[in-house]
Amino acid sequence: MKPPKFEYVRASSVGDAVAALDEHGDGARILAGGQSLIPMMNLRLARPTHLIDITRIPDLDRVEEQADGVVVGAAARHSEVEGSEVARRVCPLLPEALKLVAHETIRHRGTVCGNLAHGDPHSELPAVAVALDALFTIAGSSGQRQVPATEFYFGPFMTAVGPSEMVTAVKFPAIPKSAGYAIAEFARTHGNFAVAGAVSIIELDAGGAVRRAAVSLFGLASQPLRASQAEQFLLGKIPTPEVIEKAAAAALEGVECSEDMHGSAAYRANIGRVYAARVISTAVARANGGEPK
Ligand SMILES: Cc1cc2nc3c(=O)[nH]c(=O)nc-3n(C[C@H](O)[C@H](O)[C@H](O)COP(=O)(O)OP(=O)(O)OC[C@H]3O[C@@H](n4cnc5c(N)ncnc54)[C@H](O)[C@@H]3O)c2cc1C
Repeated sequence: MKPPKFEYVRASSVGDAVAALDEHGDGARILAGGQSLIPMMNLRLARPTHLIDITRIPDLDRVEEQADGVVVGAAARHSEVEGSEVARRVCPLLPEALKLVAHETIRHRGTVCGNLAHGDPHSELPAVAVALDALFTIAGSSGQRQVPATEFYFGPFMTAVGPSEMVTAVKFPAIPKSAGYAIAEFARTHGNFAVAGAVSIIELDAGGAVRRAAVSLFGLASQPLRASQAEQFLLGKIPTPEVIEKAAAAALEGVECSEDMHGSAAYRANIGRVYAARVISTAVARANGGEPK
């Protein structure tokens, strides 16, 4: 199937892209890797009149280390981040998560920021960004602003990006060497979007009790969820299997799971709990040096 007719605009700077968004209004959309947008156009789920290509903007494909994290520019492709020495060293959860995103061919074209800006509730990366407290930089005609990942998602495919704005970069905070991290998901086949999944980062103190816990869930509701009840429950406790089970149950408290052809709300809640326990357990094992990072 072919997409409906559209005008192609190649932006040579962020200012150019933002001006084109302003000029063409509601009909304009940023084109990054095209791996979500073009299929949606082919299926007539989106009918933009103007596509603003940002992939040739100089320096927008950077994957660069900053004192306390790694910054991924809006044109950096999944595969570039997955293979980046900086990303693996500073924030190894990111390349680990990327291995679960789609297939290699799609990862060669799709971008990390495009994935995050698309806001699919079944995507892995938004849950990674939420667990890590990543920071989005958004540019518009009135300048730049920064939005934390926990305030970026509002609902399915709904984000803090305004109609004449674009994400220019996302900063993922560094994961300390002593921390354990994990992502796991249930998908019907490898490379498909997850039915549901979970992400965790755990740091332990010298006595083996949890000093810092981050847990997020994806595929359960209309947006990625930060499981703060689970995090609070874990803090200060020795993470025994029983404690981890209880934390995973707490992660699902008050969550209204969605349902679709892949599963009922109860089924999703069960998968969410099982995968929350699995990622916390793996992160704890890694924080204890029990598994290769
Ligand atoms: C068969 C298949 C399987 C897939 N499986 C998965 C999967 O398992 N997990 C997963 O997470 N993804 C999956 N994807 C989606 C893939 O990861 C996409 O690459 C990604 O979601 C979108 O990135 P993109 O760069 O291709 O964005 P595009 O398709 O170019 O854009 C997507 C949307 O985001 C907007 N956008 C893009 N960049 C910006 C920006 N910088 N600022 C503001 N708005 C922007 C666009 O306007 C558009 O609305 C799959 C795709 C396919 C085709």
